[in-house]
Amino acid sequence: MTTTAITHISALVTNDPSLGDASPLGLIQDAAVVIEGDRVVWTGESSKAPATDNAVDAGGRAVIPGFVDSHSHLVFAGDRTQEFNARMSGRPYSAGGIRTTVAATRAATDEELSANVARYLAEALRQGTTTFETKSGYGLTVEDEARALRVAARHTDEVTFLGAHIVSPDYADDPAGYVDLVTGPMLDACAPHARWVDVFCERGAFDGDQARAILTAGRARGLHPRVHANQLGHGPGVQLAVELDAASADHCTHLTDADVDALAHSATVATLLPGAEFSTRAPWPDARRLLDAGATVALSTDCNPGSSFTSSLPFCIALAVRDMGMTPDEALWSATAGGAAALRRDDVGRLTPGARADLVVLDAPSHVHLAYRPGVPLVHQVWRAGERVAAPYGG
Ligand SMILES: [Zn+2]
Repeated sequence: MTTTAITHISALVTNDPSLGDASPLGLIQDAAVVIEGDRVVWTGESSKAPATDNAVDAGGRAVIPGFVDSHSHLVFAGDRTQEFNARMSGRPYSAGGIRTTVAATRAATDEELSANVARYLAEALRQGTTTFETKSGYGLTVEDEARALRVAARHTDEVTFLGAHIVSPDYADDPAGYVDLVTGPMLDACAPHARWVDVFCERGAFDGDQARAILTAGRARGLHPRVHANQLGHGPGVQLAVELDAASADHCTHLTDADVDALAHSATVATLLPGAEFSTRAPWPDARRLLDAGATVALSTDCNPGSSFTSSLPFCIALAVRDMGMTPDEALWSATAGGAAALRRDDVGRLTPGARADLVVLDAPSHVHLAYRPGVPLVHQVWRAGERVAAPYGG
């Protein structure tokens, strides 16, 4: 098999603390990466790199693992510009806005939905995201949820059943009946197409008992739990996520000391989604508090048409550093290795032998520039599974 070396890397983030400077990022100066097929086979100092068939000169740029976006909602149709515009003019966000997208999504064809997913994934890829999770949740009928998952599965292996996004408008007077639908016929139709089961555990959506019933039913069908938890206020979501060994509790904006402690002593990742707080003018989640307690923190976009319409992890990194108490190193780790942990993956989010060769060449000498130069398009090249897939800015 052909081997390719990427050489003349000013600073390489491996996310292997046994390498380089022995920090969590495993930072190697003047580094090279060797790729064979779709895998990384060697990382280290340039001067020690083995001979390869091909070489690509990174030109003294930094290289990081491809971003792992562990939380997005990309199977949708329609537009909510007016809602955003109204909110920015003073109206608070409520979960009810999802109904607008549900109506548009139900009316769209499979091909329209798939084209939308492809468009936003291409957008994310240009910004360095090489692994992404996405969800259903804008269908809310048996057939519309199942087809959302079928559409998502055309584009990624990380597919999440979120029939419990909100109570379907069709069941407005019978939320218990909707939970029965989600845990019964809808789960039967959806389980074959998904890896994960998720629930929006929040006042106005699903309470703790309903969420437990939905996640437990999903788990009995082989789906692993993840939870939208504690976004809009305090509630049972985080404790439930930990109790059920969910891979991730997502949002974590309003946490008690007991919630922080539970996350710190579990394998459940706290996934923070600052695009949502940005786009709803809500208080930021306190990443510093979680990190100081010992919790594992991931950063993700929550890309969706209502509350966080960004596909940019560099933007989320800049917000996390500016407003959530994260260091640039921590934010980079959380958007790569942290996202991988939130998907219980060990083949992505790191650049060490055996990992999938997913990497980003930054038009900067250091990953710190992602926060230092907010809003600047710094992605020079993107490689996924050993193939160079994007050279968006002249790379
Ligand atoms: Zn979400």
